[in-house]
Amino acid sequence: ATQRVKKPNWLRVKLPVGKEYAKVRQLVDTHKLHTICESGNCPNMGECWGAGTATFMILGNVCTRSCTFCAVATGRPPEYDEDEPRRVAEAIKLMEVKHAVITSVNRDELKDKGAEVWYQTVVQTKLASPETTIETLIPDVKANWDALYRMVEGGQEVVSHNMETVESLYRRVRPQAKYERSLEQTRRTKELGKRTKSGIMLGLGETQDQVFKAIDDLVANGLDILTLGQYLQPTKMHIEVAEFIHPETFDMYREEGLKRGLKYVESGPLVRSSYHAERHVNVPI
Ligand code: SF4
Ligand code: SF4
Repeated sequence: ATQRVKKPNWLRVKLPVGKEYAKVRQLVDTHKLHTICESGNCPNMGECWGAGTATFMILGNVCTRSCTFCAVATGRPPEYDEDEPRRVAEAIKLMEVKHAVITSVNRDELKDKGAEVWYQTVVQTKLASPETTIETLIPDVKANWDALYRMVEGGQEVVSHNMETVESLYRRVRPQAKYERSLEQTRRTKELGKRTKSGIMLGLGETQDQVFKAIDDLVANGLDILTLGQYLQPTKMHIEVAEFIHPETFDMYREEGLKRGLKYVESGPLVRSSYHAERHVNVPI
């Protein structure tokens, strides 16, 4: 058995408390919404929800995939709820969200990969809250490019698709995904004129050179914004943390990323793909 590495001090976070947090919590519950903040046991819930923002997860909370870092349940998802786009749009309006992050599970069993629900969610959110900016963190469409086009044409400001890790760890970390295919998804998103974003978790055993290679590949495929954060094991059933990356190393990656051609890099132990997301809408395309 591998020795579990001890969590360093810089990963300690405050518990979610406060009035704003309670308000968001209540709206999420009454509208029967799913948030990735909760499913992923995100350490920033206090900060993000306290600021009146949250990441919504559409198309249910059961995923057809089994990424080994992810706390979302794997299985055969039930029928999706056609009313969900309206409920998400209404909740975002009631919560007076200025910047909404929307993501989803993978629905590989659906012919359109959930693209129509995606499109409707963005369009209805924009209709209900014209001032609200939107980031869509979309799944791997498995090279169904028509699905990709539908997912990104509703008027969102940022389109993200997470690489999650370096190429050599794909089999262990994202068994149903392909590194090249996810790169191509970013490239095609860029070709549609969108603001592109991706995220990589560190501490899964990747080397620095592998991270640099991933950054170079992303730049070559038209990526604008990258987030780099520490992987944390959601439960003992999930892939183990190989290493806790030092905050100074995260700073080094930010500088390297900018040097290598990214327009914006968010890099630090507690960074998640939706962390500080409201700042990313202003990154020039
Ligand atoms: Fe939710 Fe993202 Fe904030 Fe975590 S960083 S609490 S997942 S919005
Ligand atoms: Fe989790 Fe997304 Fe992987 Fe599904 S596709 S298991 S939701 S990371």
